Amino acid sequence: KLKYPEQTEFLQAVEEFLGTVEPFLVKNPEFVEKNILEMLLIPERIIEFRIPWMNDQGQWKINRGYRVQYNSALGPYKGGMRFHPTVNQSIMKFLAFEQIFKNSLTSLPIGGGKGGSDFDPKGKSDGEIMRFCQSLMQELQKYIGPNEDVPAGDIGVGGREIGYLFGEYKRLNGYHAGVLTGKPLSYWGSLARTEATGYGLVYFVSHLLKDQNDSFEGKKVLVSGSGNVAIYAIEKAQELGATVYGCCDSSGSIIDPEGIDLALLKEIKEVKRERINTYLESHPNAEFYPNQSVWELDFKYDIALPCATQNEIPVELAKKLVTNGVQIVAEGANMPTTLEALEVLKANNIVYCPGKAANAGGVAVSALEMAQNAQRLPWTFEKVDQELNLIMKNIYETCRDTSNEYVGDFDLVAGANIAGFERVAKAMLSQGLV
Ligand code: NDP
Repeated sequence: KLKYPEQTEFLQAVEEFLGTVEPFLVKNPEFVEKNILEMLLIPERIIEFRIPWMNDQGQWKINRGYRVQYNSALGPYKGGMRFHPTVNQSIMKFLAFEQIFKNSLTSLPIGGGKGGSDFDPKGKSDGEIMRFCQSLMQELQKYIGPNEDVPAGDIGVGGREIGYLFGEYKRLNGYHAGVLTGKPLSYWGSLARTEATGYGLVYFVSHLLKDQNDSFEGKKVLVSGSGNVAIYAIEKAQELGATVYGCCDSSGSIIDPEGIDLALLKEIKEVKRERINTYLESHPNAEFYPNQSVWELDFKYDIALPCATQNEIPVELAKKLVTNGVQIVAEGANMPTTLEALEVLKANNIVYCPGKAANAGGVAVSALEMAQNAQRLPWTFEKVDQELNLIMKNIYETCRDTSNEYVGDFDLVAGANIAGFERVAKAMLSQGLV
């Protein structure tokens, strides 16, 4: 039934999902009789549009914009916007598909969506970023709203971009605080949203470790990426007693034998927006590996936290993780592990935490931002952080218990897919043919 064979990322996400939900469907045949799976394979709506903008030299530039409004059974569409030259319809659909189940796992009232553009923010001036965001919002504003679709950030979209998008939406439609999340703190943003995905990932793993009478204390960790998710995963892992030795960007990796200096990394990435090798200017003892991801390095460590992008761990690198002695792989990024790589991890009894469960902290706090905006009351950092930790504990336990119930085994992929699917499928069934 699936068309578009060229949409490889989307087909990969669907294949991973379909490979795990059968035990649930066998026990609940009404979902098969009513064709709920088939309905789930087609998004409710895909919007594709043109984004014209002018660069600093006065040249006309054109990019492509997308919003995939995939499933609204549980609430308004919710999911980030990605600015990266690789963005295409397949990547948008895979991200939106995963988002449905991730949002369902949070137990919060949010449907699944995703959007973005093939615009490359690297090397662009602040003025160019602003004009691009304004042009994008001129079109996107027709389709979003606090009760319809609430975008947030993703790769290449942080507080600066959300600010420009929000400003343009406000100019066209008036003040609707809840139309975007990940807003700056000075106007309706939530405390702990910036930290949420990275912290949530580490909370997820800490609940898993606790089940094994273990903790982050003394663990050796590598993290890929050095963006929003990576930085706050490093921060929380270090706070819980682990040493994070390495991270990367698309130009290469660094390993610091004394552990990553997080204040410096934040300065390089959040303030100066520089390449990662500038880390060595202040830490000459660190090593830089040009054009290599952290997963390519020979280094003994316990926990791998992929926080960069999809398919960053193909099968050869999964084998490398095994020889490096990794015991847990927990995904901060969306679908960073290929299906074949996943098989290698499984065959070697490496505990694997799928992104749709382990990185749900970001969207969960986005939903808490929507709640604060609706209440017109900001919550304290401690309150949001506590809620986040509770949500991640609940997601971990739900995945663990669901996999025990349906596959009689500890399989967090099956647990996440089945538990995420069950809530959405029940809502779809009760809403009828819509
Ligand atoms: P950022 O843009 O803040 O950071 C992305 C990081 O990954 C950058 O360091 C980037 O390096 C690096 N990267 C990207 N592509 C590659 C590559 N091919 N090889 C090596 N490094 C690469 O994005 P986020 O941190 O927000 O997102 C990271 C991942 O987490 C994505 O998969 C996203 O979908 C997922 N995610 C994000 C959430 C959020 O709240 N932000 C929520 C849930 C999931 P460079 O700058 O050189 O490109």
